[in-house]
Amino acid sequence: MTMISVIVPCYNEEQAIPIFYREIIKTASEMPNVSFEFIFVNDGSKDETENVIRALAENDDRVKYISFSRNFGKEGAMYAGMQHSSGDFIVIMDVDLQDPPALIPRMYDDIKSGNYDCIATRRVNRSGEAPIRSAFARAFYKLINHISQTEIVDGARDFRMMSRRMADSILSMCEYNRFSKGIFSWVGFNTKWIGYENINRSAGETKWSFWKLFKYSIDGIVGFSTVPLALSSLMGIILFFVSIVGIIFIIVRQLLYGGSAFGWPSMICVILLVGGLQLLSIGILGQYLSKTYLETKRRPLYIIKDTNIRKDDK
Ligand code: UDP
Ligand code: MG
Repeated sequence: MTMISVIVPCYNEEQAIPIFYREIIKTASEMPNVSFEFIFVNDGSKDETENVIRALAENDDRVKYISFSRNFGKEGAMYAGMQHSSGDFIVIMDVDLQDPPALIPRMYDDIKSGNYDCIATRRVNRSGEAPIRSAFARAFYKLINHISQTEIVDGARDFRMMSRRMADSILSMCEYNRFSKGIFSWVGFNTKWIGYENINRSAGETKWSFWKLFKYSIDGIVGFSTVPLALSSLMGIILFFVSIVGIIFIIVRQLLYGGSAFGWPSMICVILLVGGLQLLSIGILGQYLSKTYLETKRRPLYIIKDTNIRKDDK
């Protein structure tokens, strides 16, 4: 029998999990020809999430859990879930029902045909989101698609169904600074997109502060584009030529008209400008360097504290 692994990252989701579970087993019961496993990844929650999942696992042996030793982030949770999954198809979804389980049968019908390795979803609107947040998100997608060769689809969600071979290729990308939206598209394969309206959270609140999202967007840019590095060299080259022209101008003026140094104020402005650009360039360099530094340490993406998945289950 075909098996679908549903991977659900959870961080402080004690309220949302029971609601999600009710919905997902309803969907599962509508698909009698498919078996399911539900892998809940407890990403170091500080509330009762772990116990809530354990209780589910006691009554339903399709429920698997992986508990992290601390909060490692959604990226690590998705990776761990995929690594411990054994299904023929893998679904990743949020626990807050912003990713409707009702789409799973439709995704399965599409992927079963064999024409696609991935059925992915995207939000067609951002209703219910703060306007300033939407504006920044849009600017980010515009920027990254300009400077990266990997296409990052605006509004793409992590909610998707993948074939085993696509999941394995994603697992083979074991980089530490993960940006899944880029990784999904980098590995290639045929992807079908399903659009749906934004849905508000069922319970609890979003785990993504503006600052967290900002850092995540830097991960995306640094991970999938080296254009900022080239940009700072380009800036350096342009300024170099401008200063050569300036020096020639000053020498010629001195020879023709005499009179020594004037224009201190303009000098200070130029020093500030060049100094600022230098710091900016070093900053950009630093971003790449710090990511490289973390990659070379080869730290694990997550540490498991407890799980009910046995190694030989896989
Ligand atoms: N999540 C996680 N670790 C984190 C942050 C979030 O596992 O550090 C999970 C969270 O429990 C949820 C999913 O990732 O299932 C998406 O988070 P959220 O709904 O807060 O994000 P939003 O939908 O607001 O972008
Ligand atoms: Mg959400």
